[in-house]
Amino acid sequence: MFIDKAAITVRAGKGGDGAVAFHREKFVAAGGPDGGDGGRGGSVVVVSDDNMSTLMDFRYKRKYVAQNGVNGQGRKMKGRDGEDVVIKVPRGTLIRDRATDAIIHDMSDSQPFVLAKGGRGGWGNQHFATPTRQVPRFAKPGTDGEVREVVLELKLLADVGLVGFPNVGKSTLLSVVSKAHPKIANYHFTTLYPNLGVVYVTEGVSFVMADIPGIIEGASEGAGLGHDFLRHIDRCRLLVHLVDVSGSEGRDPIEDFEAICNELKEYSPELAERPQIVVANKLDLLPEGSELLDELREYVTALGYDFYEMSAATHQGTTELVKAIAGRLADLPPIRVFEEEYVAPEPVIDTSGELEIEECDGVWYVEGPWLQKLVATVNFSDYESRMFFDRKLREAGIFERMEALGIQDGDPVSMYGLEFEYQS
Ligand code: GDP
Ligand code: MG
Repeated sequence: MFIDKAAITVRAGKGGDGAVAFHREKFVAAGGPDGGDGGRGGSVVVVSDDNMSTLMDFRYKRKYVAQNGVNGQGRKMKGRDGEDVVIKVPRGTLIRDRATDAIIHDMSDSQPFVLAKGGRGGWGNQHFATPTRQVPRFAKPGTDGEVREVVLELKLLADVGLVGFPNVGKSTLLSVVSKAHPKIANYHFTTLYPNLGVVYVTEGVSFVMADIPGIIEGASEGAGLGHDFLRHIDRCRLLVHLVDVSGSEGRDPIEDFEAICNELKEYSPELAERPQIVVANKLDLLPEGSELLDELREYVTALGYDFYEMSAATHQGTTELVKAIAGRLADLPPIRVFEEEYVAPEPVIDTSGELEIEECDGVWYVEGPWLQKLVATVNFSDYESRMFFDRKLREAGIFERMEALGIQDGDPVSMYGLEFEYQS
């Protein structure tokens, strides 16, 4: 697996202080306390964004500080609340505590997550007047905002897959355009693993590009590609098809192009339909007067593909290609395959405790302390969660006991407000 990581520090805003003030008006002696409250400090909120696929931006900005709340003022004027800071991360990013490595949150869903909560505003002295204390000369200070040091972690999957014959320059292109070579952990393939690079375009725009060797050489015959490898291919939103136009080794670019297209189709018709950019490489080796480039351009553009020319070796045309890829990705639908990476551990529930089973007017009531706890923890709209519930009931032998007592299929069962029909 390829893992992108970034350590960041977030600081929520401090709450504003409450004010000490007294009502003053001409001809009114000794007005009451009217110090307003401080505003709430801004929070640091994290949201998942489907258009992001890397943590590249966090290499450049590592500190996120939300605004402080404004102090309260006289005439019961409340201070303004501090503004929140919103941090966008790719969907599926894990937020870990830097010190303990514990997972604080998995940004797999679409809910904003408050990573650091803003401080509360302090009360102004208007709140502290009592019959015996008419002149409160104090107010409460605002509380500090939370500070957290975290590590963002993302398992990278490729947005862009490089395809083409061996030696057309896929690895060279990747090394030229990518700034980051992510950490590779426990990859299963030694010979057939995709080589991943993160391509940084500009702030907020980056993508993951994978050189996918092996997809052509034997992949369609099932050369033992593992699940991780296939995920990269599935996830690819765009294929970049490299063709060597130099004619070295006496090859014909159009034939090469067609051969790869056919291999793709054989491997996966769906993959062959994926948007594709065709790139002619090794322009620097193109012999004087060669028509190979023009022929390929004409052939490919007639088929409706975008066509680019470059020399990965001399970097000619590579920047234009990167921009073109980013432009296409911006218009393509986000991530095709998405899997949650983090599975919450199952709660520990000891099913050996006492249970009472009682039939009353045809309804079977089951009660016991651990069962109450179990019903409270299970999310019945979630399949995994329901399976867990079912497993626990079986483990406790509830169904066997009820059967011994004569329960029939279709009889209603009630467990702490949860009702279902018994099915053997
Ligand atoms: P891959 O098998 O598709 O990954 O191809 P590589 O990137 O390993 O390149 C194969 C060979 O072609 C290497 O010797 C590269 O240096 C060379 N090469 C790649 N791109 C160019 C290019 O634009 N011009 C020239 N002259 N050589 C290139
Ligand atoms: Mg290579």
